[in-house]
Amino acid sequence: MNLINDATRPPWPWQEQIWRRLCRQQQSGVLAHAYLFCGDKGTGRTGFAREFANFLLCESPVAERACYQCRSCLAGGAEHHPDLLLAQPPEGRKDIGVDQIRELAEFLSRSSFSGQGRVALILQAERLTLSASNALLKTLEEPATSAYLLLAGISPGSLLPTIRSRCQLLPLPGPDADIAAAWLRQRLSGSEFDSSERMLELLEMFGNRPLALEQGLRSGQVSEFVSLRQLLLDLLEGRIGAQHAAKVVAKAGESAVFEHLARISTILIRGLVNGEWRGTENRQLAEALTEADSAARLGVLLEFQRQVTKVRQQLSGPGNPNPQLLLESTFRSWTRQERPRES
Ligand SMILES: [Zn+2]
Repeated sequence: MNLINDATRPPWPWQEQIWRRLCRQQQSGVLAHAYLFCGDKGTGRTGFAREFANFLLCESPVAERACYQCRSCLAGGAEHHPDLLLAQPPEGRKDIGVDQIRELAEFLSRSSFSGQGRVALILQAERLTLSASNALLKTLEEPATSAYLLLAGISPGSLLPTIRSRCQLLPLPGPDADIAAAWLRQRLSGSEFDSSERMLELLEMFGNRPLALEQGLRSGQVSEFVSLRQLLLDLLEGRIGAQHAAKVVAKAGESAVFEHLARISTILIRGLVNGEWRGTENRQLAEALTEADSAARLGVLLEFQRQVTKVRQQLSGPGNPNPQLLLESTFRSWTRQERPRES
């Protein structure tokens, strides 16, 4: 089995450089006690941190990767490995609490079971409560020998400065669109989205976050988006009315629909501003707006985007709005109709 450049495990191609830098630090015996891996959601920071933990505990790494054959690798990750502890918001809770961090500190102070050291992973580190952060600070100030703390989170700014300054900060870059598209095509071969241009268009839709797109493709979110975009075109071209359209999309759930609408308006606005389009459907949709020129279309789209934002706030607020009516009025404002025009 060839485990080098394994496409099924991190580090992903856009993380290679940082991974190699860490491996060099490990080989030279100068690894820091604590690392903070930061990167956008959906670009692979969590997978990177988990894989680096596996690598640190691997008894016989191969070509700077965990071997997946030794006793440690076969122990099966944080849930089962006696030298690995994972802290993240527990199911049904938003935060990482102080109890979890006390447990983590106690875990790191014990001696290693396998002799490879001990590793504690904190995922979604931005969710540490203030008291959990303070408890963590003590662990960071008095690191145990052969104990490593790996934090992964969205941005360093979401952590206490005192925690940040005691970790080695490693910003994980997102990929270039072409690299991300090639990676996705390798992982999703045989899918209907296997043309490069198509993949680039979808990546744009997901803010160039390949793991988020992969999840969207697998969960059906992408098909939802594509159908909704077609529906917007049908609305503009009079093939369907607002009331009917609201019924058609209802089963996707209103929050998903409004998230897609926000995404679509952003893509169209960006296309009009830059004059660059990925795929023909987005351009076709922008051109179906009846306004005379790009500037007027842009005005309409900005207004539409404002309305979508307002509705999303309403939906997440304390009131009890009628989603069906909100969808209807949003579709009506998309076609700029004052009154329902149902056939
Ligand atoms: Zn191993």
